[in-house]
Amino acid sequence: MLEAFFAPKAVAVIGASRDETKLGHSVLKNIVQYGYKGKVYPINPKAEDILGLKCYKSVRDVPNAVDLAVVVVPRPVVAPVISDCVAHKVKAAIVIAAGFREAGPRGAKAESEIVRIAKQGGMRLLGPNTLGLIDTQSFLNASFAASMPSPGRIALMSQSGALCTSILDWANREKVGFSKFVSLGNKADITELDLLEALGEDAASSVIVGYLEGIADGQRFMQLAVEVTKRKPLILVKSGSTAAGSRAVSSHTGTLAGSDTAYETAFKQSGVIRATSMEGLFDLSLAFAYQPLPKGKRVAIVTNAGGPGIMATDALERSGLELATFQPETVRTLRKHLPSAAAVYNPVDVIGDARADRYRVALRTVLQDPGVESVVVILTPQVMTEIEETARAIVEEATETDKAIIASFMGGDLIEPGVRILTEGHVPNYLFPERAVAALVAMNRQWEWQSKPLGQPEHFEARKERVKEVLQRVRGGQRDALGDVEAREVLEAYGLHTPRSRLAKSSEEAVHLAEEIGLPVVMKIVSPNILHKSDIGGVRVGLRTLDEVATAYVTIVGNARRYMPQAEIWGVAVQELVKPGREVIVGVTFDPQFGHLLMFGMGGIYVEVLKDVTFRVAPLTRDVALDMIREIRAYLLLRGVRGEPPADVEAIVDALLRISQLVGDFPDILELDVNPLIVHEAGRGATAVDCRIILRPVR
Ligand code: ADP
Ligand code: MG
Repeated sequence: MLEAFFAPKAVAVIGASRDETKLGHSVLKNIVQYGYKGKVYPINPKAEDILGLKCYKSVRDVPNAVDLAVVVVPRPVVAPVISDCVAHKVKAAIVIAAGFREAGPRGAKAESEIVRIAKQGGMRLLGPNTLGLIDTQSFLNASFAASMPSPGRIALMSQSGALCTSILDWANREKVGFSKFVSLGNKADITELDLLEALGEDAASSVIVGYLEGIADGQRFMQLAVEVTKRKPLILVKSGSTAAGSRAVSSHTGTLAGSDTAYETAFKQSGVIRATSMEGLFDLSLAFAYQPLPKGKRVAIVTNAGGPGIMATDALERSGLELATFQPETVRTLRKHLPSAAAVYNPVDVIGDARADRYRVALRTVLQDPGVESVVVILTPQVMTEIEETARAIVEEATETDKAIIASFMGGDLIEPGVRILTEGHVPNYLFPERAVAALVAMNRQWEWQSKPLGQPEHFEARKERVKEVLQRVRGGQRDALGDVEAREVLEAYGLHTPRSRLAKSSEEAVHLAEEIGLPVVMKIVSPNILHKSDIGGVRVGLRTLDEVATAYVTIVGNARRYMPQAEIWGVAVQELVKPGREVIVGVTFDPQFGHLLMFGMGGIYVEVLKDVTFRVAPLTRDVALDMIREIRAYLLLRGVRGEPPADVEAIVDALLRISQLVGDFPDILELDVNPLIVHEAGRGATAVDCRIILRPVR
């Protein structure tokens, strides 16, 4: 994949220059000076040779095949140059020139034009407006970066070229190596999707990191990300948020979904590790690149100071990792080798005067304990501390084990030489134990994600035709919102349970329907304009007599007229009273990037206040639906507190899965709220009491 970009046999630099101040010079020089083994052809109509290489007037004049063209000419000349490349059967082009889409409508037009020419000629294009790319395996530095990274196992892609240059500078100081380094530029042709695919298959890259501002195709991204993350960690910083639609949101779910919700959930669902800062990105990439994944949550801490040991313990416990409990044998060995003042239970305190030998024996002993899956080694510089010797001892122990070792040498100038030894020996070091723990947390998550098989969406029998008819009826009436009866028909067609309900258009009719349904009943206003019926006195629950029903009709319609004089009133629904249970909300909203998002949370009228909800991108699998339910704070209430029986969680899973299938079958559904879904005791099911469905407006 993308072989012509990363390992070309011949490269042409179009716009190569003798003038050392020009990009066209820097790029050529970078290709030549870092040991690229293939052929290099500078292209410049006015020069005979540059940097000792023979020049050609056009890429078409090159006597041999060219795999990769690096285009450094100014924007107006890019299109003809791309045509030349196509004519010469060049396979790939890196367009470094700027002034395209990022510069306004004229630039955007020019960008479409070069992509069109490239696509027609079967040539792939990176950029425009890119810093270029680097591959340390083929010693190719096809960029205008100021340096070349050393070889390593981290692959990086970035939508910001400037960020690339600072990362390179940092990496060189920290001695961090890279396999591939790609500046995505404007992503006119090659996007993060192509790179995910290529880097996922690249044996030289064991960790993929990236900085992205946007994602081209959310659904495709998720598919690829899952394939990649099942094999190797993918760590991303995502800045900016989704293009929130300009339409006014009218559902609970739409209101509760923030502009970043879709990315957050999509990343979580596809195993992407999201770093919230560049610092976090570096921290995690080091841990993943240097250390094996811990095969569980149990951590041992070895420290020469009490305070930092406690801080690390606190961070562990907050994060869901565990402090390992040592076997008696481990404790015995530690006691034998450590002074009597040392702490031999986890965290192991080798105390302030520990020299390297004490660290070594403590570390080796805890590593041999079968109940330990990773170790954090903390060091604070004290008078007797042998900083470099200790670092060497840690590196040596690390090479002898398949358990993860993370160091936290805390300090500044004093510890610096030790940190160098650690980094060179591929033991990541973090200045503070909390950051070491954060790295372990991410590694643990990756381990669990890789070990867990992927679920498949289930398929329910559903009356799809019926829903189609209902939606057509709504469209036929020039409406986007479904009425109560219509929404219930849709839910029932997909196997959800709803209360019996009929629409009354007069007080007499309400009485008649109440007799038919059976007292007690619930009555509620039915109007396409009224979203929150209780707010305007539009709901009466538990009407016990026919007199109450007759009066309720008049009151409800009166309230509606008073509070919303402009509302179109269709009548009043007379509904079977559903047995009380726990009220939850199941909702759907549509994200332009990722498609339908499902929401679950505690329902009722306080949902917007408590915001105890969680989201996932559709379609859901059974496991994911269960995760959603377990994730909310109020999950304990569903399990039952104070002698309450547990609620029917299976029925919620079922409702979530069926609604997921419904919106998959009908992409026209823009928003859906079931609020509340009244959940009965375990085994008794759940009833969708109030449902609102809104279709994509037709323009
Ligand atoms: P809205 O959300 O527009 O105010 P709902 O139809 O959700 O109107 O009704 C408000 C509340 O009344 C619900 O949260 C529920 O507690 C109760 N309720 C509504 N319909 C029924 C019913 N058929 N049986 C039992 N309780 C109901
Ligand atoms: Mg409601």
